Amino acid sequence: MQISMDDLELQCWDCKGTGKVESDEGRVPCDKCNGTGVVLTALGQTLLAFMQKHLNHGGL
Ligand SMILES: [Zn+2]
Repeated sequence: MQISMDDLELQCWDCKGTGKVESDEGRVPCDKCNGTGVVLTALGQTLLAFMQKHLNHGGL
C-alpha cells in the first residue's frame, strides 16, 4: 500500500495554504489549520494517532 502526502494532508481551504487569514486586525494565523497551511485528512489523523499511541508507549 502506497501513501502519498496528499492522502495525509490537504492544503487548507480557508487560508489557501498560507497559514494566515485576513481579519479586522490584519493578517492572523489561520484557525482552521493553526497556521500550518495544511489540514490532516481522516487518514492523516488516523496515522498520527497511531504514531502517538506507540510513541507514548516507547514502541517505535
Ligand atoms: Zn488555514
